[in-house]
Amino acid sequence: MKVIDKLKSVKENVRIACERSGRNVDEVNIVAVTKYVSNERAQEALEAGLVHLGENRDVGLLEKRDNISQEAVWHFIGTLQSRKVKNIIHKVSYIHSLDRLSVASEINKRADKPVSCFVQVNVSGEESKHGLTPQEVKAFLEDLTKFEKVKVVGLMTMAPHSDDEEMLRSCFRKLKTLQQEIQEMALHNAPCTELSMGMSNDYMIAIEEGSTFIRIGTALVGED
Ligand SMILES: *Cc1c(COP(=O)(O)O)cnc(C)c1O
Repeated sequence: MKVIDKLKSVKENVRIACERSGRNVDEVNIVAVTKYVSNERAQEALEAGLVHLGENRDVGLLEKRDNISQEAVWHFIGTLQSRKVKNIIHKVSYIHSLDRLSVASEINKRADKPVSCFVQVNVSGEESKHGLTPQEVKAFLEDLTKFEKVKVVGLMTMAPHSDDEEMLRSCFRKLKTLQQEIQEMALHNAPCTELSMGMSNDYMIAIEEGSTFIRIGTALVGED
């Protein structure tokens, strides 16, 4: 299926989820996750009107970015190692996976202007997931205040792959609550106005619970 047709149905679902929760569709940014697909398919996504593209590896991001002729807003969504920061830092607008001070320190050292970061939180407690525990987040954010070039625009989570709607909803709701607590801290470098949550399997629920960036691969660009 063409990206433009998949985008149509994703947008319709976004509209429905916003309507159910009394939100405006303009509050929800769609990040097309292109990690599984070719440069051509990523280009097709931009031609369909998508603006935000996400990749989870430095190599994949650079390969796409160098071979696509159209401008895009790039999001790094994968696990980031300190030694890889220099490869992507001047190429991306957002980093969704900050969960280590060593990486924050490297971002601060290499960046020439504040970088918009999401702090990744492992809300579900699944072993396989990266991110801080919810209990660790506030102290982490206080530590981050010494890094002037790390701007925490929001929190990110990956929910378990599951059909248990109530469990998914509870994950997203916990992230929202944490976001509100962080906003109350009023840290100078952590406006924390955004929530990066929701993937192909669960983005409607994530939107109903307040997501502002949904990261969609399979349902949007994935071949089928
Ligand atoms: C791959 C990936 C996605 C997209 O997953 P889909 O289920 O294909 O929509 C979103 N977020 C992260 C962090 C990913 O690694």
